[in-house]
Amino acid sequence: MAVGPYHLAQLCFILFLTNSANAEFNSAFTPEFNSLKVVTIKPLSHNADYNKVVFEVQGRNIVNGIRIKATKIPSERNDLCTENLDVSYNISDVATSELKSPRYVLIVPKSVEGKIYLCLPHDIRSEKGDKIPPSIFKSTIYRWYHQGNDISIDLPKVSNVKSNQNANHRSRREEPDDQSIQVLGLRVEIPHKNIEMEEGTSRPKLQANVAETIRIFGINFEENMTISFTPEEGKRGSICQLQIVKGMQVDKSSFSPTSALVTVKLPPLPEDTTCLYLCVKKGDYHSNTSFIHQGTDPGLQLVTYESLLPLWLAIVVIFTCLSFSSLFSGLNLGLMSMDMTELKILCNTGTPREQKYAKTIIPVRRHGNYLLCSILLANVFVNNIFTILLDDLTSGAVAVISSTLAIVTFGEISPQAICSRFGLAIGAKTIYITKFVMMLTFPMSYPVSKFLDWLLGEEIGNYYNRERLNELVKVTTGVNDLDKDEVNIISGALELRKKTVAEVMTKIEDVFMLDYEAVLDFETVSEIMKSGFSRIPVFEGNRQNIVTMLYIKDLAFVDPDDNTPLKTLCQFYQNPCNFVFEDVTLDVMFRIFKEGNKGHMAFVHRVNNEGEGDPFYETIGLITLEDVIEELIQAEIMDETDVFTDNRSKRKRIADRTRQDFSIFADRKTDSYKIRISPQLTLAAYQFLSTSVESFHPNVLSETILKRLLKQDIVCLIKKNKNWRTDPNCIIYQQGKSADYFVLVLEGRVEVTVGKENLTFEGGPFTYFGTQALIQAIGVAESPSIPTSTLGSLESLNIDSLLKHSFQPDYTVRACTEVLYLLIKRSLYLAAKRATLMEKCQKDNQTTGEQFDEEVDKLLHSLEEDGSTGAATPRKTSKNVIQAQGEAENSKITTPRNASIFSNTSPQKDINGLLSNSDLHNELQGKEEEMSLLSNKS
Ligand code: ADP
Repeated sequence: MAVGPYHLAQLCFILFLTNSANAEFNSAFTPEFNSLKVVTIKPLSHNADYNKVVFEVQGRNIVNGIRIKATKIPSERNDLCTENLDVSYNISDVATSELKSPRYVLIVPKSVEGKIYLCLPHDIRSEKGDKIPPSIFKSTIYRWYHQGNDISIDLPKVSNVKSNQNANHRSRREEPDDQSIQVLGLRVEIPHKNIEMEEGTSRPKLQANVAETIRIFGINFEENMTISFTPEEGKRGSICQLQIVKGMQVDKSSFSPTSALVTVKLPPLPEDTTCLYLCVKKGDYHSNTSFIHQGTDPGLQLVTYESLLPLWLAIVVIFTCLSFSSLFSGLNLGLMSMDMTELKILCNTGTPREQKYAKTIIPVRRHGNYLLCSILLANVFVNNIFTILLDDLTSGAVAVISSTLAIVTFGEISPQAICSRFGLAIGAKTIYITKFVMMLTFPMSYPVSKFLDWLLGEEIGNYYNRERLNELVKVTTGVNDLDKDEVNIISGALELRKKTVAEVMTKIEDVFMLDYEAVLDFETVSEIMKSGFSRIPVFEGNRQNIVTMLYIKDLAFVDPDDNTPLKTLCQFYQNPCNFVFEDVTLDVMFRIFKEGNKGHMAFVHRVNNEGEGDPFYETIGLITLEDVIEELIQAEIMDETDVFTDNRSKRKRIADRTRQDFSIFADRKTDSYKIRISPQLTLAAYQFLSTSVESFHPNVLSETILKRLLKQDIVCLIKKNKNWRTDPNCIIYQQGKSADYFVLVLEGRVEVTVGKENLTFEGGPFTYFGTQALIQAIGVAESPSIPTSTLGSLESLNIDSLLKHSFQPDYTVRACTEVLYLLIKRSLYLAAKRATLMEKCQKDNQTTGEQFDEEVDKLLHSLEEDGSTGAATPRKTSKNVIQAQGEAENSKITTPRNASIFSNTSPQKDINGLLSNSDLHNELQGKEEEMSLLSNKS
């Protein structure tokens, strides 16, 4: 029979490995056959055209999986076997466990006769020098070396085989077909994961080298039957020449004559093979029976596929993928949540370490979308690999659940939780990985990122508008390191734009203004001083019509005595007024004030179009820089002259310094009959008395009482007189004549004549006389019931006032020029002392100020009246002309009732003179009113 192309195609050598081989190959261990023994030559049972030759060899370096080539050409040992003249035959080992004398099966067409020689490779390496696994041998990549003419198989002539064939026929006939095991179907019983079917066929796909349990169905099953698989097609009942596996026993426990379970672990499909066919034989693997092919029925076919990676590698890759997955999702959150704004802030304000990290990250973070695409792409990529590998290792459901859990827990939650806090550090430390990933994914992520840039616009970064920044500062109070004041200032600054001048201005009705027609006399100036403002609006006609401003500094050269009209000053300085509308916001106002062109005060006006008539501007208030700054810092600013803490609520300043109220010295225009002295002179007299004269010292007479005292009608004037030496009107004190008053010269000069020698000297302004007339009687002070304190008590004063003592000066005082002087009567002085005491009591008893003022006024005025009925003064007889003090004694009124009250009070002697009963009575009458007042008080 001629060898057809079909047969030639069949003649490629495939040596299947059944045991793992670990032998090392090298040229020193070149495989060699030393002897060959033919065991049997039989015709193939299912194909009579072929002979099956079993032969046994001996030699060295014979390993499992070694490939043998057969040739018809004789040659010397180690000669190259020439390929094209060769005829190749199927050779498979049948007992590879026996390496010393392994058996091989050669399937050879019956037409081949004579000697067949064998060739072996020298070294199982590729031409490039790589070691080649036996399972992927290819005949073309080897050089084959002849084993010599001694190593040969002598094939008998066809006629010889026929006799053997007959013998075989006989033996086959001994096994009737209806008794043979026949497998009719199989299915994967307990798949270790979902079994897929090969596309287009119904062949189950089993993973190579993974044990699977399959169930076989058929007839004539035996308990000890063995199954195997072959890649070769064959008819049912033919002998399986090439089994891919040694053979697997059926599971005896599940055995039945028609069905059995068997656990199979199949190698990957050999090359050029489409599927595996089932072979089955009676007895175990070692039994001499042959595996019988079960035919090419599609239900009996299997396909195997190799897992992607070896197990260990798969596990390593899985863990690596999981780590990268967690890194990428961490970076995604860590890097992407920090925008450029934040990074720039960190760059400038962070700790040195943060600055370093931020600087490292910024160049990468700048390409936000590119970074995002790269990280996400890489993340999805590693997640997918992870899932696929896990699926490869486990079944589908397990893979889905476990990969989901693993990715969520280790790939998402944990890294994101960590990176939300340490994103900066992790991002900076893994920057090279990030850059590498960006580089790797560049082809895809860069175009996508550019598209996103184009679509979404440039990434601006997190920014805060006014409200958000304000809220950020507020909600982070306590966490941030800002003081309350700082928080207030920040929020105040941010809210400036929201407030209008109308909300913070001082209302027009509360504005302290001056009339354009006003005169800058002492009274006005002291009002200005009292107001505490440094800029005073000036109105003309009505308060709405503000025409100019008066600055306090403008008053520097103004003498109140000059009674300068305000108009003159205003015309000279012409200070401009700044008007703003009520809806101007504070930030604009602040800017205007900052520029300072129009000063730091502005008047707020609005257009009034209510009612009939033309609309007009209505001034509704004033605003100053201080008002704006107060809103800015959200606190009240107090300066040294401020009277109110808040200009709107008009809350009085708590620690208001006792303001110098100079208006008290101003003239009361109503008291037209009084001799007027300038307020400055009154102030000077006040200062002099309170500091230089002990009887008027603040702890004897309080400041307020002294001021009031000076407002009384106590000023006297002696006009210039040529005959002053002889004119009795020019005498202020006369030697030996009792006087009950104190005199302080304010202007002019007096001549004082002292003693019997008539020593004379002159006195000028602020010379004073008659303090003894004021001081307490010694006799009274000696009384144990009267305290000796400087101020005394009401009781002591009462008694003192009752004890009229007479001061007889031992000098004469005459006015030698025009003399202006203060004349304070003892009674007035005592009343003032009383008032001081009352004031003290009032402070203790919390009497209201007004009540007290009224009472003091009453008291002092009562004394004036008293003075008119009591001792006469020069002023009393004539308004402007001074009379001799002695006249005081002319008006003596005795009141028996009063006298009887004090009848037990014995008259006492004063150091300055005698107290007479008539004096006492006179005094008593004057004090009647005071007494009632004081007794009410006490
Ligand atoms: P000053 O320097 O005169 O103390 P500020 O500019 O400090 O004035 O303003 C203090 C407060 O007094 C502000 O609330 C302002 O509105 C108010 N204010 C300023 N001048 C006057 C005035 N003439 N009349 C009433 N309130 C005024």
